Amino acid sequence: MSAAGTNWITDLRRDFDRVFSSSKGRTHVIRAPGRVNLIGEHTDYNDGFVFPMAIEPEIRFVCRSREDGQVRLTSTEMGQKESVASSQNSGAGSRNASTDYRLLDSQFSRPLASFSLNEKIVPLDKHDKDAWTNYPRGAIAELIAAGIPLSGMDVLLTSSIPLGGGLSSSAALLVGTARCALALAGLTMDPQRLALLCQKAEHEYAGAPVGIMDQTIIAAARAGTAMLLDCRDLSKRFVPLDAQELRVVVANSLVKHDLGAGGDNEYAKRRRQCEEAVRFFATPPIGNPAVKSLRDVTLQQIDQAKGKLDDVVLRRARHVVTETARTARFAELLAEKKYEQAGDLMLQSHASMRDDYEITVEEVDFLSAEAMKVKGVYGARMTGGGFGGCIVALVQPRAATALIEHLTRGYADRFGKRPECFVTTAADGASIVA
Ligand code: ADP
Ligand code: MG
Repeated sequence: MSAAGTNWITDLRRDFDRVFSSSKGRTHVIRAPGRVNLIGEHTDYNDGFVFPMAIEPEIRFVCRSREDGQVRLTSTEMGQKESVASSQNSGAGSRNASTDYRLLDSQFSRPLASFSLNEKIVPLDKHDKDAWTNYPRGAIAELIAAGIPLSGMDVLLTSSIPLGGGLSSSAALLVGTARCALALAGLTMDPQRLALLCQKAEHEYAGAPVGIMDQTIIAAARAGTAMLLDCRDLSKRFVPLDAQELRVVVANSLVKHDLGAGGDNEYAKRRRQCEEAVRFFATPPIGNPAVKSLRDVTLQQIDQAKGKLDDVVLRRARHVVTETARTARFAELLAEKKYEQAGDLMLQSHASMRDDYEITVEEVDFLSAEAMKVKGVYGARMTGGGFGGCIVALVQPRAATALIEHLTRGYADRFGKRPECFVTTAADGASIVA
């Protein structure tokens, strides 16, 4: 490990000792990465494929057991002034590079939030100042519900994953907290089981009806690879992403679309439209009863449905059917190192999200189109649920800096703000560092 790699452990342990000075015993250091999906959007709830990889931005945890059943937590992201330490070369001069970790203010000589394992663990109201602890609460509660004996613990965490930036800080917090608790109990758990448990925690403690992709990639990623995940049976194929030949660049448009609560948001609408399409395709003569999800529908059936199925619903179904095929093909092309063709599929994916699924906005359309003007960029597309968020680009290593500069300049000229950009290789899944 490089000097920069070990320094942060010493720094974080020192901060931990300051906040949790009263506790004694062995500490563990855990990391849990964020993730980006290279291709396969809105395919997860249609039993299709997704193709995510873990990224270098991560949450880092120091933890130690407690005998009294208390779980005490401090996050450097919460209740803090703006003070940033760069533990690696950020280059960008701000937190944009997502490799910067906030230092702990001197005011933090006591833990920020706590709950007890001696009582039923309940989620806090989402307006509560400690609502972020719903993720640790959920992770711990689900481990206990699975029959795993846990002690209390003290935890300090720091993060370079932007909160709510579409890079899955929430799943990193869940999986990382669970790994802390398991490490202190001297236990390991199959990563997919851990992912399912954390997904349940996100449903029940954070009220977010998320799919299985985020938790799975964060728990089970392998460095230097992306994961083709079949959301139907959870089978996985790890495809090498050669760091000599490829980089991934992420650019955040900083557009956050409030999808609204309840059943009337755009996400819920898309899900309903997919269900409507499934009902149509499960009904003869065009469909057949064997169709259980859009995964079972062919492009030929989509063509046959023209004029018979509502046009909007048809286009939604076409996105899912073509995206599922693109995702499987993309993984093959990447394995064969056919980067240009893989890049073309990213462009097709973006066009499909823009025209058929209608989940892009002007800013992300702009970023992904601009990215393609830079030499050495194979492909670019919006990543994540849509209506803002990030684009992801697959690039030659030497093109990464030029791309970030081009996007930063172009976006500022057009929209008057800087996109948050960073370059990353494919990182390892959550792990024990020390
Ligand atoms: P995303 O997963 O895309 O980053 P979410 O809205 O799903 O966005 O999750 C963000 C929430 O997760 C935050 O509002 C906060 O409650 C919690 N969270 C994530 N990272 C941290 C952190 N480092 N410290 C405290 N809370 C965090
Ligand atoms: Mg999330």
